[in-house]
Amino acid sequence: MGRSLFGEEHEIFRDSFKKFLAKEVTPFIEKWEEDGIVPREMWNRLGDNGFLCPWLDEKYGGSGAGFEYSAIIIEELAYIGSHGLIAGLHSDIIVPYIYSFGNEEQKMKWLPGCATGDIVTAIAMTEPGTGSDLAAIRTTAVKDGDSYVINGPKTFISNGIHCDLVIVVAKTDPHADPPFKGISLICVESGTPGFQKGRRLNKMGFHSQDTAEMNFEDCRVPASNLLGKEGQGFYYLMQKLQAERLVVCIMGQAMAEAMLDMTIKYCRERTVFGKPISSFQHNTFKIVEMATEIELGRTFLDSLLLDYCEKKDIVKRVSMGKAWISEMANRVAYDCLQLHGGYGYMEEYPICRFARDVRVIPIFAGTTEVMKVIVGRMMGL
Ligand SMILES: Cc1cc2nc3c(=O)[nH]c(=O)nc-3n(C[C@H](O)[C@H](O)[C@H](O)COP(=O)(O)OP(=O)(O)OC[C@H]3O[C@@H](n4cnc5c(N)ncnc54)[C@H](O)[C@@H]3O)c2cc1C
Repeated sequence: MGRSLFGEEHEIFRDSFKKFLAKEVTPFIEKWEEDGIVPREMWNRLGDNGFLCPWLDEKYGGSGAGFEYSAIIIEELAYIGSHGLIAGLHSDIIVPYIYSFGNEEQKMKWLPGCATGDIVTAIAMTEPGTGSDLAAIRTTAVKDGDSYVINGPKTFISNGIHCDLVIVVAKTDPHADPPFKGISLICVESGTPGFQKGRRLNKMGFHSQDTAEMNFEDCRVPASNLLGKEGQGFYYLMQKLQAERLVVCIMGQAMAEAMLDMTIKYCRERTVFGKPISSFQHNTFKIVEMATEIELGRTFLDSLLLDYCEKKDIVKRVSMGKAWISEMANRVAYDCLQLHGGYGYMEEYPICRFARDVRVIPIFAGTTEVMKVIVGRMMGL
């Protein structure tokens, strides 16, 4: 399918990124999965080749490119099954907080390292006691002279081990009414006393993705590490969460496309009862149904991408997209694995890893149910 979103220059960029992946990433995915983490230096390899934060202004080390380039990076990584190296989380979800809400001093201090890969970022919202209900976080950041003193546990934090800089979502006013008005975003550098990286979490899928607990215990940071204004953190999160959902839509859609492609190839080659399994009418229909859903997802997603690139508000539609594409990708995973028979259950067939990795797509960046709550509210229901 031709995609009006991308012109010739984008396709040249896509080709060069694919070459990079074929050499530097694909041969190592299995090893990283076994190790449970992608090596730290991969972030610098991405940065050295211009594949981190391509949208950043040149003065901060980027190339001032449009979001289309980010979309290419996210979808190609997801398509090859490198689900552990989630460049989009750093480049397109976390770094934009510093870019949009940081002051010039903060930007000059951190953004160039974010583009080279010298600084890997994380965002710590979720806590053991709360995930979907962000306003209920209990981590506090108490002002003490020229510092904030942060206390509280965080969990499920992507890039939790490798991160050099984490944006901590904390309550600077625990008594604010309503509670979301007391939330602020504070940057904490790795190595700050009181900031402990916890255990790397053992997950169902995304084995090579660095996901960890963190703890802040009397962690003192300069008050100048506050991003934007005190008490505005929740509003900043609401502004940026649409980009987070878009990134996850891109991942889910690319994973669905990859699963279907590998399944069609398998079904054409696998012969049972003397015929390729793709030729049994039930299987042909299954494949056609999946191809149709995937095409619908692609059409919708590309329309979201176009609107996002044109700076339109996509909150409602991207929440619909996150809910629908996530669930569609999981339906596709189930049926594609089934079409592989017993081989689908074997690690040497990539469908096995894709099917378990895709399970998290309807969970992180806001669950399917939370997406529906948001859309329902926006529909006045
Ligand atoms: C691999 C991975 C990486 C992650 N990375 C990060 C990260 O980098 N930073 C970070 O801060 N967090 C991260 N998370 C956390 C993730 O965003 C949360 O897990 C997610 O938001 C859900 O929160 P929860 O797990 O606390 O579930 P809960 O909020 O406890 O929800 C449990 C169930 O209740 C449902 N539910 C909740 N509210 C409603 C409602 N109003 N109506 C109907 N149903 C509802 C949910 O949909 C879900 O099915 C990550 C999670 C995973 C698994």
